[in-house]
Amino acid sequence: MRPGPAAGVSPPLDRSTTFAYDDGEVGAFFYQRYAHPTGLEAERLLGELEGGHALLFPSGSAAATALVLTLLRPGSRIALAEGAYYGTSVLFDLLGGWGLEYEEFDQTRPPPEGASLVWVEAPGNPFLTFPDLEAAAAYPAPLVVDSTASTPLLLRPIEHGADFVLHSATKYLVGHSDALLGAVVCAREEDAERLRELRGRTGIVAAPDAAWLLVRGLRTLGVRVERQSATALELARRLAGHPKIERVRYPGLDGDGGGLAGRYMRGGFGGLLSFDVLGDARAVERATRLITNATSLGGVESLIETRARWEGDRVPEGLVRLSVGLEDVDDLWDDLVEALERA
Ligand SMILES: *Cc1c(COP(=O)(O)O)cnc(C)c1O
Repeated sequence: MRPGPAAGVSPPLDRSTTFAYDDGEVGAFFYQRYAHPTGLEAERLLGELEGGHALLFPSGSAAATALVLTLLRPGSRIALAEGAYYGTSVLFDLLGGWGLEYEEFDQTRPPPEGASLVWVEAPGNPFLTFPDLEAAAAYPAPLVVDSTASTPLLLRPIEHGADFVLHSATKYLVGHSDALLGAVVCAREEDAERLRELRGRTGIVAAPDAAWLLVRGLRTLGVRVERQSATALELARRLAGHPKIERVRYPGLDGDGGGLAGRYMRGGFGGLLSFDVLGDARAVERATRLITNATSLGGVESLIETRARWEGDRVPEGLVRLSVGLEDVDDLWDDLVEALERA
């Protein structure tokens, strides 16, 4: 064997906060708050997948905050998809102190008049409705599509007129429940430049370690999402025929956003679904053994929880959200059937 340097097949991680000048000249990297090599590589990969200009943030919520601070002024109103990620409406409530208002609307219909920004979720978490992207893109205000549950493998919102794509990369993109991370992908470089300026100055910056875990996650995103979508569709179909279940919410089922989701999604409908239990949903979430009773989604392990615990009467008491992991579909089904006996 020949000694000497070999090219590692895993991409490098550079934690440097400062970078040597090149013969006295400032280069592409000089201080980590403005840019770092691992983050730039992760942004290049994600930008390519979405067909836009990607920027990383320390979480999906930080990405949402940066977007709002960049795009809006006090007194602005956001048209927000009804039943979208609970944390987004709570964040906007909090920003109300800075003069931000929002109005919720049914995202399968055109947004209400008078908004400075339209914010939809494709599909919504946890109701799994799908937005009318054509109507939202035709609206005379910038469009943000939270595409966390779709990933760029199944949906490329910029191709359908989105100005900004938001990701909680904590979920499918990192994919292993081991890094908190967010991203905004801009359709236009001038918008990315405004966000980059805000990010660098406020210091709402993702660390190299989390960016590296995104690069790692993207290497298996295709196979994970394909498998999770196939398993979720099969479970959704089986659950729809179960006597303890009132309703299954999944974009891949006919009549449940199927029309709109089918128009825009390609290659599957994702690994997230919800179902409404007839009886005691809390007993069901406590009874699964293979599926972990915990919040969040998008990891390799299946997670289940009732959403009323967080959202109160904003969601039906019996609504259970299931994030499908990479386990065997029949093992997952057996676990659900056993747990449903406790309902
Ligand atoms: C989790 C989530 C967020 C928030 O992202 P964090 O990384 O937890 O801050 C935003 N939107 C959706 C759809 C989510 O599921």
